[in-house]
Formats: sequence, structure tokens, C-alpha cells
Amino acid sequence: MSDCIFCKIIAGDIPSATIYENDEFKAILDRFPSNEGHVLIMPKEHCANIFEIDPEKAGRLFTLAAKIARAMKDVLGFENMNVLQNNGPVAGQTVNHFHLHLIPRYENDKVNVSWPQMDLTDEQIESVRAKLAQKMVF
Ligand code: 5GP
Ligand code: ZN
Repeated sequence: MSDCIFCKIIAGDIPSATIYENDEFKAILDRFPSNEGHVLIMPKEHCANIFEIDPEKAGRLFTLAAKIARAMKDVLGFENMNVLQNNGPVAGQTVNHFHLHLIPRYENDKVNVSWPQMDLTDEQIESVRAKLAQKMVF
């Protein structure tokens, strides 16, 4: 994708602070981190989001994320982390190339990951559950 900033990073046309890469994935420091050690993991082959990525590849990416998270924890000394992944502009995705955020959390940091919570009835929950469950034929 010629207009994708992460494809340009992967191609080496834009510099990045790379902490790890293999044939399939690249892990870099976020250029505008929310906290020290904010890492992004992305597939080298362009795909936009969770709806496009090959599920098996997504599995391998998450396996790598679990390994990188532990290495980061050892080096940086934090105990807590958010793992986030945004899909689409309404969900906050600003770079249209799949990436997983690994955000170390430190006591009294300024990161805010939160959402409102609806107080639904059991019937309302059941209505959504039934709709979704009937589509889970993998
Ligand atoms: P999103 O909002 O799409 O989930 O996350 C995109 C992330 O990419 C943001 O956290 C942003 O700081 C980061 N970012 C944007 N441009 C660059 C860049 O040129 N280099 C790096 N390393 N990170 C970037
Ligand atoms: Zn791309």
C-alpha cells in the first residue's frame, strides 16, 4: 500500500525504532507513545484490520505479543500492561494497517483506557447472546 505509513516503515522508507522483526511481523516503538515502552506489533504484509487479517496469522501475532510483553516487563520493570487493537475510525484507528498496542502501565500514569458501562436486563443480554451465538459456526 503506497500511502500506508506502516508499509513505508516496513519497507525502510521511513525510519522506525525497531525492537524485533521476523519474516512475518515487525515490532516498533510508537513514535508518539502514551507511556515509556509503548510498542506496536504489525504484520509486514499490509492488511487493514481484524476483519481482514488471516485468523491464523493473528494467532501467531498474539503469540509473539505474549513473548514480547514478557521481555518488555523484564527490561522496563513494570507489572501491568494494556493490550489494545483499534479497528476503524470510530474505534480510534488512525493508521489503517493492522497493529497491536502493548502499553506498559505505571503507578499514577496518565493513560486512560475506559468506557461507559450499560446496565442491561438479563433479557437484553440474552437477545444479543442468541443473535451472536447462532452465527458462531466455524
Ligand atoms: P491507532 O490509533 O491506529 O490504533 O494507532 C496508531 C499509532 O501509530 C499511534 O499510537 C501513533 O502514535 C503511532 N504512529 C503514527 N505515526 C507513526 C510513525 O510514523 N512511527 C511510529 N513508530 N508510530 C507512529
Ligand atoms: Zn500498510
